[in-house]
Amino acid sequence: MSIPMYSPPAFHILSKPRGAICNLDCSYCFFLTKEMLYPNSNFRMSDETLESYIKQTIEGHQTPEVMISWQGGEPTLMGLDFFRKALEYEKKYKKPGQMIQHTIQTNGTLLTDEWAQFFKGNNYLVGISLDGPRHLHDVNRVDKGGASTFDRVMKGVEFLKKNGAEFNILCTINATNQDHGADVYRFFRDELGAQFIQFIPIVDRLMDSSLIPTNEIQVAEDADVHHAGRLRRFYSQRGHVVSSYSVSPEGYGNFLNDVFDEWVKKDVGTIYVQMFDVTLANKVGAPPGLCVHSPTCGVALAMEHNGDLYSCDHFVEPEYLLGNIREKGMVEMISSGKQQKFGSDKLDTLPKYCRECEVRWACHGGCPKDRFTLTPEGEPGLNYLCPSFKLFFNHVSRPMEIMGDLLKKDLAPADVMTLWPEKKEDKKTRKRH
Ligand code: SF4
Ligand code: SF4
Repeated sequence: MSIPMYSPPAFHILSKPRGAICNLDCSYCFFLTKEMLYPNSNFRMSDETLESYIKQTIEGHQTPEVMISWQGGEPTLMGLDFFRKALEYEKKYKKPGQMIQHTIQTNGTLLTDEWAQFFKGNNYLVGISLDGPRHLHDVNRVDKGGASTFDRVMKGVEFLKKNGAEFNILCTINATNQDHGADVYRFFRDELGAQFIQFIPIVDRLMDSSLIPTNEIQVAEDADVHHAGRLRRFYSQRGHVVSSYSVSPEGYGNFLNDVFDEWVKKDVGTIYVQMFDVTLANKVGAPPGLCVHSPTCGVALAMEHNGDLYSCDHFVEPEYLLGNIREKGMVEMISSGKQQKFGSDKLDTLPKYCRECEVRWACHGGCPKDRFTLTPEGEPGLNYLCPSFKLFFNHVSRPMEIMGDLLKKDLAPADVMTLWPEKKEDKKTRKRH
């Protein structure tokens, strides 16, 4: 395969072997209705598409590390043999010196000992979707009959722990759990034994105050689907209001601050919270490793079960379809002018308010999908979560600076746990005198 002249050395594709098909019916899921894009599909990645995906991903990387990522819908619905086959193709195409890592994002409800042993034996990091303790998780994360899923997810985590498989927690921040940051964090740390945690804000856009989800894109004659008796319309990134289960503009920031205050006291260096790592990386000028808080994006794409490649997981919509990997080169599509523009627009469309912002170094305007509000001057393109970003990045700026200085001196950032509270004490002491 020839590599185009301006191709990124590495890229990340979330591939969806079962498309949008899932055994659960989470209320805020933006992906379930993507099923409407493929009306006559069996929603199973074919052997030919799998081989092409593995081959092109491996060949397209110019780095020693290659990431193969599975997501959905629910990818475990493919069954283990599909993933065993993927390993065979990896062996076939792997270049000398290359290391292949795997991630799989799952709701955890279908895991067994066999799955856990497979993950453990094959260098998989398993992402488990869990929104906190039972009373917070079960509000939104229900099955097709609307029933609780908490016990099934916890059982899945037990299989992983028992077999020593590495896992992280992906927790959405929504209207239900937004005021419970420390409780949610302690639950993951103390009751689950989680070491790696990601918090993802739910911002679910609607077209207008009638609160009817957008369906401007005509994907099928009848664009409605029923899930557990609920009517859903095709979800796309349009609209200026949000659904009732979305996090509030300040809720995500307050949640993160609550977690940070607990973490910075005793867990630095033992518990890894993605947003804190990303902020520290931005503080020291290292690549943040998260598109949302990078100046540009465009190298984190999504691939549907049939090989259709889209600009981003949040933009699986006809307008953002780059092509199909069975017909066009994957790297060629990733390097295309269309995709480069998608990535550079993140920076080029930043409003003046953001360009002059005191925490731009950490924020970079957030994800374009959430930029649908107005700045105080009335300029469009401000992120719905701006109040949260300001709350969080200002709150952590000083301790992040301390951790950054420690890193530069080759010392452990964990030393902040003794330095930061002392600094606060010092301030109080100075004031008293
Ligand atoms: S649109 Fe948002 S989620 Fe998608 S790649 Fe860009 S920053 Fe990341
Ligand atoms: S905090 Fe708000 S103003 Fe500042 S860069 Fe982020 S979105 Fe823009």
